[in-house]
Amino acid sequence: MFETTIAGSLPKPAWLAEPDKLWAPWRLEDAALDAAKRDATLLALKEQEDAGIDIVGDGEQARQHFVHGFLERVEGIDFANKVEMGIRADRYKAMVPQVVGPVRLRGRVHAFEAQLARAHTRRKLKFTLPGPMTISDTIADRHYGDRVKMAMAFADLLNQEARALEQDGVDVIQFDEPAFNVFMDEVTDWGIPALERAAAGLACTTAVHICYGYGIKANIDWKATLGSEWRQYERIFPAIAKSRIRQVSLECRNSKVPIDLIGLLQGKDVLVGAIDVASDTVETPEQVAEIAAAAMRHVPAVRIQLCTNCGMAPMRRDIAYAKLAALAQGAALARQRWA
Ligand code: ZN
Repeated sequence: MFETTIAGSLPKPAWLAEPDKLWAPWRLEDAALDAAKRDATLLALKEQEDAGIDIVGDGEQARQHFVHGFLERVEGIDFANKVEMGIRADRYKAMVPQVVGPVRLRGRVHAFEAQLARAHTRRKLKFTLPGPMTISDTIADRHYGDRVKMAMAFADLLNQEARALEQDGVDVIQFDEPAFNVFMDEVTDWGIPALERAAAGLACTTAVHICYGYGIKANIDWKATLGSEWRQYERIFPAIAKSRIRQVSLECRNSKVPIDLIGLLQGKDVLVGAIDVASDTVETPEQVAEIAAAAMRHVPAVRIQLCTNCGMAPMRRDIAYAKLAALAQGAALARQRWA
């Protein structure tokens, strides 16, 4: 009851990448970079364990960005000639690579960090991959000419890597789909079928993370336009509830998502975001326990995990880990009260 976990990314040490930003350039190259990624992954695991997190991850220390970290190992993509594209329905512009031929994996994508993490923690291990809809929204198509076809092609590649991650001993595979609250109609039409295709045949726990984005300015400005109640999930949760994905991770702390919407996720484990990644104010354990209490009114306590709202990549490192300690302490408090 009230196991704790993280949505995915953690800040990288300053010797690995430029701190406090997304898409931060690496500080090193070649073998020195590989060694630094290894060290950073081990540190991230150790810090999560010491903070008291139950289901730990690699903190995405070995990838520059959650989408492009995967795409870098895919054939059929032109990374040399990036183009500017409005992503998440034009919420922000990004320089994105182009799909120029049939996509195919050039081999394993995340074997290094998954096997490393597995060898160095006895806790349950979660691994994150981008979801097929979010990938399709973060790349320019010059080959498929059809977004759904392209998403399904990526879903097959994700499935290939996910099955291999399961063999590596990963306990939970989570697909990140921040595009899910932007293209609501498409989510039911093909977003969820693509996601299920990516998760096909997996015996390990599967999860999807949906959210309103990192705490960067473009997202904060966008959220200001969404009104006093964010009800986007109301349109997609019933479809997610019917899917084969077992867990749903979403933001709750300081969020305008009405908490009762999680009641629509019947039969799912709900990873309740109890840590705001858009604020440097460290939550108190009491505040975390309050979120757990609110969630319990709509989902049975045994199906609630306490989590961060989103990835913490652009945050200050000391603050991020202080927040993880608060998360674990708040979960302990909640267990004490309601177990
Ligand atoms: Zn997120």
